[in-house]
Amino acid sequence: MKADVTVIGAGIIGVQTAVQLAERGLKVVLVDPGPSGGQQAASYGNAAWLSSHSVTPPSAPGVWKQVPKWLRDPLGPLSLRPAYLPRVLPWLLRYLAAGSTEAKLRQIAADLRTLLADAPRLHAEVAARAGVPGLIDAESGLMHVYRSRAAYEAEALGWRIRRDLGIECQEIEGDALALRQPDLSRDYRFGVFVPEAGQCLDPGAYCAALLAHAVTMRARHLAARATGFRAEGGKLAGVLTSQGEIACPAAVIASGAHSAPLAKQAGDRLPLESERGYHVTVEGGSNLPGPTTSVMVSDRKVVVSRLATGVRCAGQVEIAGTDAAPDWRRAEIMRTHLGALFPGLDVSEAQVWMGHRPSMPDGKPVIAPAGGISGVVHCFGHGHVGLVSSARSGRLAAQLVTGEAPEIDLAPFAATRFR
Ligand SMILES: Cc1cc2nc3c(=O)[nH]c(=O)nc-3n(C[C@H](O)[C@H](O)[C@H](O)COP(=O)(O)OP(=O)(O)OC[C@H]3O[C@@H](n4cnc5c(N)ncnc54)[C@H](O)[C@@H]3O)c2cc1C
Repeated sequence: MKADVTVIGAGIIGVQTAVQLAERGLKVVLVDPGPSGGQQAASYGNAAWLSSHSVTPPSAPGVWKQVPKWLRDPLGPLSLRPAYLPRVLPWLLRYLAAGSTEAKLRQIAADLRTLLADAPRLHAEVAARAGVPGLIDAESGLMHVYRSRAAYEAEALGWRIRRDLGIECQEIEGDALALRQPDLSRDYRFGVFVPEAGQCLDPGAYCAALLAHAVTMRARHLAARATGFRAEGGKLAGVLTSQGEIACPAAVIASGAHSAPLAKQAGDRLPLESERGYHVTVEGGSNLPGPTTSVMVSDRKVVVSRLATGVRCAGQVEIAGTDAAPDWRRAEIMRTHLGALFPGLDVSEAQVWMGHRPSMPDGKPVIAPAGGISGVVHCFGHGHVGLVSSARSGRLAAQLVTGEAPEIDLAPFAATRFR
């Protein structure tokens, strides 16, 4: 089989990349053993936020002090499998160090903002071209809720950084919040509404629709696993897969949390880890009790989103690698939170899911040419912001493949920053 470009991975990063390349007239083969938007991908089960304001990494200053409390709390947002600790410790220390000072946090936020700015509009444009404009609501806005103004003020630094980047954040207090979110537990008395943000209404269907759009051009999906590369004179000659070789001069590694072994073969040892997350989704229509605007609930560290398919509660960070079986008790925690947050919602029947956020320790993806094989491009490690950043990430990966000038400075996303 021959291609102009092979894209490895059909999650949201891979399909956005494939669409951009196919729209440039290139013959694309998208390799993934699973279907695009299938349950194997983080892109299926995320919280669907197009949160262009999600610019600060989870490791804000002082977060490390909360880690022991979170680990002890049976309903806590963080868990760590002890057997995995020795392997993950260096990554964890880098992760906690990445946001340990205000200056570091501000730098990461400024870098991520270049990737996320305008994201809802970019998604709306791609969805319209793919014939599924109804899957993106670029004007929904998103809301963060707190038990009190004091709880909000404890996170003031993150909000100050956002405002300093020009992001509008509207405060909503007391009964005004209850009017905006009538089904939300009255324990929550303070909210911040971010009007520029948007949301996807079905992340799995969005991936599938983008692949279908790429296929109407010159792309095809090969149900196979990429296993490595064949290079000649330092240049890519082919991508090796479980179904044979794809002869091609260019490839994009977009296999999410599974990208590190391929990146290593292409010359870069990169600190990629899985931050495993869970969701529960109560399936049903728009009459289900739930949020009017999707909410991030600060103290519980969960997002509750209203999707076309129902109401989803997503969250948790479980550090246990990519191979360990899901711990479904973590999903039950999501169910408990959802029931407490929206008391009118019957959570007894809910679909459960676990997936892998592909995370670099500094919360920023790697979007860069590979160091060892010319023609290979990295586009992975999008962590907590893979959906929202995917529309621009796909454009950037395509620009690197074709030699166009990247639309933003890619130095903050270089593979070499970890050397
Ligand atoms: C609970 C949760 C909530 C989240 N909420 C949000 C949110 O609201 N907003 C947001 O922006 N982000 C969110 N995220 C993060 C977001 O989902 C991810 O960053 C994003 O989906 C990553 O996309 P990806 O394409 O890189 O990886 P994936 O979606 O995981 O796709 C990778 C694909 O690569 C394939 N693959 C793996 N190995 C190979 C191989 N060797 N050969 C070929 N194919 C291979 C896999 O089968 C898979 O289909 C959330 C994540 C989780 C877990």
